[in-house]
Amino acid sequence: MVELLRTTRDLRDAVGSARAAGKRIGCVPTMGYLHEGHATLMREAHMECDFVVVTIFVNPTQFGPNEDFERYPRDLERDAAICRSVAVDAIFAPDVMEMYPERPLLTTVRVAGLTETLCGASRPGHFEGVATVVAKLLNIVRPDVAYFGQKDAQQLAVVRQMVADLNMDFVAIRGVPIVREPDGLARSSRNVYLTPPEREAAPMLYRSLQMAETRVRAGERNMRALAQAMRSLIGTEPLANIDYVEIVDAQTLQPIERLERPALAALAVKFGRTRLIDNCTLEP
Ligand code: AMP
Repeated sequence: MVELLRTTRDLRDAVGSARAAGKRIGCVPTMGYLHEGHATLMREAHMECDFVVVTIFVNPTQFGPNEDFERYPRDLERDAAICRSVAVDAIFAPDVMEMYPERPLLTTVRVAGLTETLCGASRPGHFEGVATVVAKLLNIVRPDVAYFGQKDAQQLAVVRQMVADLNMDFVAIRGVPIVREPDGLARSSRNVYLTPPEREAAPMLYRSLQMAETRVRAGERNMRALAQAMRSLIGTEPLANIDYVEIVDAQTLQPIERLERPALAALAVKFGRTRLIDNCTLEP
């Protein structure tokens, strides 16, 4: 049985009972419209925790004014069925008033340094919204472990930094590898926006990442040239509209010239109105 909890108080009661019973608490924060990527995080949580909470909250403060907050896909019944199928214990699905009773908050979390590049450059304010809501969710649930996908690599880096900087030592942060469709497209709630031709074109993103990995294995160390080669490959797809394709240091997320330490090849590309992100790590 998965419990559906709408208020902070009910969630705290449920987690409190589980903790009193000696259970280890795992948390998977999501925006819902769950797919196999989310399910993988939940299974991972089950492996090392006894009580798994999935949070489902489409957080308005991480969407820009011209982004897709209103039309972001939502289907709580379907999500609950997926949670049941992987034996999640509780779903925390607060409404906006529960999370932001007196909008806007007077306190926000800004992780400087990691949020100016990549998605931070094209989505001003996005990571402040993310860090703030993740801080709230972690403080509400107080899990022993929280799970985040490598799909949102910059988000994972921001959350890790916040947890370290603010001594949120109660929680360990786990990163989980990207789950893909058979043709390589990273699973995403936003994939449902794609028209059939866009869906057919979208695996080009994964091909560009594979090309980067292949060239690095063959000895390529010039990351500026490699990022340019990725842009050229993606540019051969007429439906693809590049937001950014960058190779950055995996720790600092700052652009690099040469591959000397682990790096992150990261991209955001629009197909029609749909903005997709993907990434892979590159090892020297
Ligand atoms: P979202 O609901 O899109 O905010 O995602 C919730 C969590 O699931 C985030 O930590 C994402 O990184 C993770 N996630 C989403 N898609 C995938 C995927 N294809 N593979 C792995 N993790 C994912």
